[in-house]
This record gives sequence, C-alpha cells and structure tokens, in this order.
Amino acid sequence: MKRFALLFLILAVFAGCGGKSASNAESDNLYKETQELMGTFATITAVADKAELPAAQAAVNKAFARLRQIEDLMSFHREDTEVALVNREAFDHPVAVSAETFEVIKAAVQFARDTDGAFDITVGPLVRLWAEAGEAGKLPSQEQIADALTKVGAATKIKLDEEKKTVRFTVKGMSIDLGGIAKGYAVDKAIEVLRAEGVNNAIVEAGGNMTVIGKNAEGKKWIIGVKNFFRKSGHVEQIEVENMAVSTSGDYERFVVIDGHRYSHIIDPRTGMPVEGAASVTVIARDGMTADAWSTAASVLGSTRALEMLRKDPKYGDCQMLFAACTQGFRDYLAPGEEDK
Ligand code: FAD
Ligand code: MG
Repeated sequence: MKRFALLFLILAVFAGCGGKSASNAESDNLYKETQELMGTFATITAVADKAELPAAQAAVNKAFARLRQIEDLMSFHREDTEVALVNREAFDHPVAVSAETFEVIKAAVQFARDTDGAFDITVGPLVRLWAEAGEAGKLPSQEQIADALTKVGAATKIKLDEEKKTVRFTVKGMSIDLGGIAKGYAVDKAIEVLRAEGVNNAIVEAGGNMTVIGKNAEGKKWIIGVKNFFRKSGHVEQIEVENMAVSTSGDYERFVVIDGHRYSHIIDPRTGMPVEGAASVTVIARDGMTADAWSTAASVLGSTRALEMLRKDPKYGDCQMLFAACTQGFRDYLAPGEEDK
C-alpha cells in the first residue's frame, strides 16, 4: 500500500540536475523558464540533451504562447476576453464562445455537481464582494451576502448549448470566475504543446498547479517538494510523480484581513463566507482541471468530507487522486479506494 506524506505546499521541483532558479536557465540537460501570466508566475522545465537545448527552448516558448492564448480567452480580470463577454452579456442572450472556453465551463458545471456545489464558478459576485470588503476594511452585510448568493449556482443557473457552444445565465448579475480551474486546464494544454514538439520529459507549473510528464534529467521520477508554510523550520515533504497533475489551494498567499481576521480567497458557495481552517490542500489527479477544481473544492468541504466524496465516485477512484489537508499538524490520506491505516 502506497502512502504519501501530507502536503503543505508550495510546489517546488527537485529537478536533480542543477537547473537554476533564475527566470531563464539552462544546464547540460535541462531548460527552464519562468514568465509572469494569469496574475501569477508560470515555470516550464524541459529535459533535453545539450544538443537539443535550442529545440527545447523553442518548444517552451510555444508552450508559453499557449498559456497566454488561454489567458486571453478566459481571464476574468480583463475586459477583452470571452469570459468577460459572458459576464457582461450572458443574462441578456446566449453568448457563443470558443470550444476551449466551452469545455472549461462545461467541466466546471460538472465539478459543481460532483462536489455538491463546493466548487462553483458562479462565485464571481461573492469573490468581488469579499475583495471589496478587504479593500474597504469592512465586512459585507448579511443582506449583501444574501443578495450575492441568489446569483450563485453553476449546476442550475448556467445553461449550456453544446451544439452552438453558447453560455447563458438565468439570473441577472451572475458572473463566472475561472480562478479555481483554468490554470489546471492551461498547464495540461502547455504540456500537450511540449509533447507535440517532441519534449516528453517536462513540468509545467502555474501558481500552484503543476502537470508532470516523463522523468527528470536523471531518468528518475520527478520529485515534487511540498513546503509547510506554517512551520518555521521550512519543512519540505517530497513526493514522486509521473504523468500526473498536482494542485494546491489555500489561503497562504491570497487572502484579505478585516479587523485583524484573515479571510481566504476561497469562498464557500453555500454560505457566501470565506472558508476557514483549510490552510492548504493538495490534490494529485490524472489531469490538471480535476486536480485544480478538487483542491479548491476540498478547501471548502474539509478533508473528511472531500475524501468521502472522492471515494464514492468511481470517476475519481481510478485516477489515483490523492488528497491532503491540514489545519493543525499533519494528516495523511490515501488514494480513494484504499483504506486508511
Ligand atoms: P484556487 O483554490 O485554485 O482557486 C481559488 C480561486 O477560485 C479564487 O481566487 C476565486 O477566483 C475562485 N474561487 C473562490 N472560491 C471558489 C469556489 N468555491 N469554487 C470555485 N472557484 C472559487 N490574478 C490577478 O491578480 N490578476 C490577473 O490578471 C489574473 N488573471 C488571471 C487569468 C486567468 C485565466 C486565471 C485562471 C487566473 C488569473 N488570476 C489573476 C488569478 C486568479 O484571480 C486567482 O487568484 C487564482 O486563480 C487563484 O488560484 P489558486 O490556485 O491560488 O486558488
Ligand atoms: Mg483550484
């Protein structure tokens, strides 16, 4: 039975071959580059022999272009994207989007169902409300929260037309926020580009979402470091991964402070309140969207309930999803389907 150490993350890669942590680095058998996008940093690491490094660099550049293409479609921080258009007009009429944006929204609606509404991309009005509250230093009123909640409910309030690839909102003022899923999608797509360019050993990471293919430069499994932010010792757990996606959610980086209390950027769509107590959750899954969405959902659901739900659903059982959450001290969990020790 395989057990994995509990993870408090930020994800770090032990490339095992002297890759530098500069924004653009190469060693004898590794090319690594970091760029700023999607409000965070993305790093692509590709294994390549010295003679192949220029080709690896070209592949990495194409993969970054792919990440930017997805940001251009799905950012909700800009006015010129498809998601912004949906948020402006989808109540007035069905809005046609690209197959990619449709795929992510459709998957998100399914995750809302699978997580009993804990993962919900229609949290947009609540996310805005709490962001504004943070700026003003004043808690939102019960009325404001109740009003925002009337606009939340991806499973029932978003209407999708598969044929026409349109999105429609059924309640005025709804808006979608893909912050909990689009990075997971994007890292997988960047990996697809790398593979198409002949790079089969690589890692793409964007703001806590990582997809790993093949082996490291030493021909061994990639080792992912998971850092416990809340321990002064800077303790790092290490896990080995191969052809998997790893995602971490938590409030260690993104939060607001009101009256001295820290409020997470992850909102419980059922209550309208920021989640409490889920300092960090890491999920390992077969694909980036699943890892990303479930790490956010598990922050809302809490460790016990999230694990119960994962184990119940065969769809997740065979994708070796691992889950780790911690509020006080470390706890370990197994893949769904296995028994706790
Ligand atoms: P995750 O747990 O993966 O996601 C949490 C985020 O999902 C929250 O920040 C919120 O956006 C949303 N959310 C909250 N609660 C829920 C819930 N219950 N269910 C579903 N979703 C929820 N940030 C910037 O500052 N500037 C930018 O220009 C910018 N552009 C972006 C463009 C894209 C395409 C994407 C995907 C993200 C962008 N971001 C940007 C970052 C974004 O705003 C979030 O802060 C970030 O995605 C949080 O990711 P996470 O992995 O830390 O947390
Ligand atoms: Mg997420």
